[in-house]
Amino acid sequence: MQDITTDVVVVGGGGTGLAAAIEAAQAGARTLLIEKNPTLGGTTGWSVGSITSSATAEQRAVGITDTPQEHFDDMPRFHGRHAGRDNEALRRLLVENTPDTMRWLRELGLVFVDPMPEPPHQKPRLHNVLPNSRAFVFHLERRARALGVEIRCATAAVRLLRDGGRVGGVEATGPGGALRATARRGVVLAAGDYSASRDLKAQLVSDAVAAVEPFNPASTGDGHRMALEAGARILNGDIVWGPEIRFVPPTARPWVQRLPPSTLLARMMRIGMKVAPPALLRPFLMSFLTTALAPSANLFAKGAIMVNARGERFAEELDAPAPALARQPDGVGYIILDATVARQFGAWPNFISTAPGVAYAYLDDYRRNRRDVFREAPTLDALASSLGIEPARLRQTVETHNAALSSGAGRATSNQPPRPPIATAPFIALGPARSYIMFTDGGLAVSERLEVLDGAGQPIPGLFAGGSTGQGGLLLEGHGHHLGWAFTSGRIAGRNAAASAPA
Ligand SMILES: Cc1cc2nc3c(=O)[nH]c(=O)nc-3n(C[C@H](O)[C@H](O)[C@H](O)COP(=O)(O)OP(=O)(O)OC[C@H]3O[C@@H](n4cnc5c(N)ncnc54)[C@H](O)[C@@H]3O)c2cc1C
Repeated sequence: MQDITTDVVVVGGGGTGLAAAIEAAQAGARTLLIEKNPTLGGTTGWSVGSITSSATAEQRAVGITDTPQEHFDDMPRFHGRHAGRDNEALRRLLVENTPDTMRWLRELGLVFVDPMPEPPHQKPRLHNVLPNSRAFVFHLERRARALGVEIRCATAAVRLLRDGGRVGGVEATGPGGALRATARRGVVLAAGDYSASRDLKAQLVSDAVAAVEPFNPASTGDGHRMALEAGARILNGDIVWGPEIRFVPPTARPWVQRLPPSTLLARMMRIGMKVAPPALLRPFLMSFLTTALAPSANLFAKGAIMVNARGERFAEELDAPAPALARQPDGVGYIILDATVARQFGAWPNFISTAPGVAYAYLDDYRRNRRDVFREAPTLDALASSLGIEPARLRQTVETHNAALSSGAGRATSNQPPRPPIATAPFIALGPARSYIMFTDGGLAVSERLEVLDGAGQPIPGLFAGGSTGQGGLLLEGHGHHLGWAFTSGRIAGRNAAASAPA
């Protein structure tokens, strides 16, 4: 067992953990960050990279006047069926501190696109990072190392060290064996969510959700589990994002993605977005996509179908097919469309998916830039062969579907036209797509100082949490609130851990 003593131990090297470590070190605390993966980043590094904030320099630059109060008032417009379950104190903390987080990120070298609208927000507040979310990891890691944070990857926290009621460090396993890290001032849990924990999903959500694969297999809820053992509790544990259908993330990295996501590159892209003709710029921006994007349900309303790896339809596409996709062979599906559907997906409002930087990606974007999930063929048989599906099976599936349509089935809603048959060449397949639990929203109960609270609502001395681990019953609906919370809560947790009286 290797023993080390430091001031602050941060568990997890995603956005929250890196932000916490930077702030703790900036405040003068000796800081150790442990990350169980071989590299830093977590879900943060897979994200689209949008942050929703009011009162930013980017908003002011394009003449938008916006305030945290307006942001606070708009957030419940997204709550839908979860209305009434929010932690308003944490919502206040988020909206009031995210503008400063944006300033801080900019100072670290991050560059954002002009804010985009996302109704029902009443002001454009969605800020996408350039060139993609790897930039967060690149700049935050650089800053953390410059401040002397000791970073140990491939090192997983296993349990909290407790002395009476106080948390005094963590026990971990790493390349050199067991590690006992004593934290004189505090431990910050920033280990992400529990979308990859079958047990926690079954316990807090349902067996059906437990059976669906996570987007990030590292999100095993270790932070939640360790804190529960220390007397903490989880709020809003049943709220999950998914099952959702996503195209699998790009497998090959084009040369542009191998460039370091430097401030200079991002600034050049930002200028390019203002001056370069969109036709020239779109392919370039699309080549920075690192993540899994969600196909629009509108594809199905307009006539596309979804088949499994055997070429069979397995669900009524208009009735949320994601849970059924999770149960298909290899969990894989393909969206099949013909030229009639394809022709409609070239312009707003018929997009294939959203896409950072270019806002919405159309069929041509996929044809040019996502060859890994795009196939086109003059016949259904040829399309099936290119997917490794038996041609007769796919042909039969399409014929049965078309026959059902001609007998009146397949109307999206009563006031929408019926779906057209899949009949006109060329034929296109988009996929593989999979069904994922993207992330979970159940977080440890925390105070506004990001202290972890016990069953009686009292802080557990020495224990802090942020990001998905310390979400505290806060609803982060819409886009861009999760990353805002990760960086903002991480910063506050890191500062408060560093300021705690030493044990
Ligand atoms: C595809 C996708 C796109 C998204 N896009 C957006 C977006 O554009 N905007 C937005 O706001 N939100 C987005 N989100 C959500 C957002 O990315 C996450 O909520 C956020 O990144 C969580 O940050 P975190 O620091 O809490 O967790 P993470 O970034 O996951 O970091 C947790 C880290 O802890 C490590 N860890 C886990 N257990 C241990 C252990 N025992 N010991 C040591 N380390 C451990 C993990 O490996 C991981 O690196 C997206 C999510 C997905 C899946």
